[in-house]
Amino acid sequence: MATKAPKAKAPGSALTFDTDWSYAPAPESTDHASVRERYDLFIGGRFVPPAKGKYFPSINPATEKKIAEFAEADADDVDRAVRAARSAYDRVWSKMSGRDRGKYVYRIARMIQERAREFAVLESLDGGKSIRESRDVDVPLAAAHFFYCAGWADKLDYAFPNRKARPVGVAGQIIPWNFPLLMAAWKIAPALACGNTVVLKPAETTPLTAMKLAELIAESGLPEGVVNIVTGAGATGAAIVNHPGTDKIAFTGSTGVGKILQKAVAGTKKKLTLELGGKAANIIFEDAPIDQAVEGIINGIYFNQGHVCCAGSRLFVQESVADRVIRKLKDRMETLIVGDPLDKNTDIGAINSKEQLGIINKYLDIGQSEGAEMYQSSCSIPGRGYFVRPTLFLNVSQSHRVASEEIFGPVLAVQTFRTEAEVLEKANNTPYGLSAGVWTDKGSKIFNMTRRLRAGVIWANTYNKFDPTSPFGGFKESGFGREGGLHGMYPYVNLD
Ligand code: NAP
Ligand code: MG
Repeated sequence: MATKAPKAKAPGSALTFDTDWSYAPAPESTDHASVRERYDLFIGGRFVPPAKGKYFPSINPATEKKIAEFAEADADDVDRAVRAARSAYDRVWSKMSGRDRGKYVYRIARMIQERAREFAVLESLDGGKSIRESRDVDVPLAAAHFFYCAGWADKLDYAFPNRKARPVGVAGQIIPWNFPLLMAAWKIAPALACGNTVVLKPAETTPLTAMKLAELIAESGLPEGVVNIVTGAGATGAAIVNHPGTDKIAFTGSTGVGKILQKAVAGTKKKLTLELGGKAANIIFEDAPIDQAVEGIINGIYFNQGHVCCAGSRLFVQESVADRVIRKLKDRMETLIVGDPLDKNTDIGAINSKEQLGIINKYLDIGQSEGAEMYQSSCSIPGRGYFVRPTLFLNVSQSHRVASEEIFGPVLAVQTFRTEAEVLEKANNTPYGLSAGVWTDKGSKIFNMTRRLRAGVIWANTYNKFDPTSPFGGFKESGFGREGGLHGMYPYVNLD
């Protein structure tokens, strides 16, 4: 909700009048989105109840109300899903021509586009992200990934010249809650294009759009068992990883769970890709276009409530412009609207879960007790649901936990620097290496920085821009393997 502007004085008059600068509510309609009370598992092209008959709720983090119940898959259910995927692989999918596979993948892309409004609303309901983001980022990009990968399905001989690309088999795929539909697309699209079948598990707090995708896939006529979607908690994910029938594991999530998975597949023939956490440096040089950079900082950390692995959560500003940048940044933060995710004016929606809200609040306490200076915008936040004001910490040093640990919320740690060498050293001083941003007018500085920053994705004079043709992935504890682009096909093929 926006703050009310104070009473203003009419020019040249003693009169005062109310000037309410806040936007009127503009809620997105939910009439076109249908939600069932209960969702079963999607196995072998059908919706089937879980063996043990257990279900868990997913809630709307903006209202704390239950949206629907989802089946909790155990190891027996996962076994059924892996068998269905294996059978589909052996019978149809691995034998189908790339040209025909591509048609199915294209169809899924088109159907996501046709239902874009419904997917966007459901994504915001279940995950808490603002409708602007789910409508303009998550859903179009999910469709774009299917389109992009569909194009490769019949061109694998060109993708891997002089090699023969064979599919890997059954891919077990586990995704987090910050981009539920988009992460499903990142995982499923390249797997299918290369001739693999899939068992996918969405995150416990955001299973809704994955199950909507299951409905769409069932309608698309994709052969039964090519995509199977099983809902559940960490144990369901572990059952996929440990099942002897999965040939490849693709995981996006925390570094902690990534390490567990690495141990679990050690000594097996399974291929593994890990997309893990981050603590990205967003670096502003004194010759940068300051106003654009401020927008980039805002987009880098407050976009999607800071629930972004590549969020620009460590800001480095060159000393000579630091005061100016921070003043402008605070002014811009003051205009951000925190509140109802379904309102089209909302900039920052709800934090995904009570648990995540607790983690963010814990870091706000840690930052203050470490002696950093906390600044939050003065906006009001709803009394119900999980919300945090956009926050920044000043007077931060490298050793502060808010500057070194991933918070996964709208919290920015600000540091200053004098020279390129100094900022490179500080930026690289992290166990992570997923992304970074560089803002400068000088092309040579950009090249110098991008060569030396240890990060998989580096944005120059922009931030958080994604494209299906561009590979994404990390260095160090941010994981290994790439998703997107031609590089994103490699984990899904064996090359002869
Ligand atoms: P998480 O706890 O690691 O969970 C990720 C997924 O793994 C969820 O589906 C989770 O199920 C499942 N899981 C949990 N324990 C498991 C186990 N022992 N074996 C197999 N699967 C298990 O991560 P999160 O908290 O949901 O997501 C936030 C993290 O993801 C952040 O660290 C963020 O940086 C990272 N992330 C990285 C990228 C990237 O591309 N690099 C993208 C997005 C997010 P439940 O949901 O049921 O727990
Ligand atoms: Mg939810």
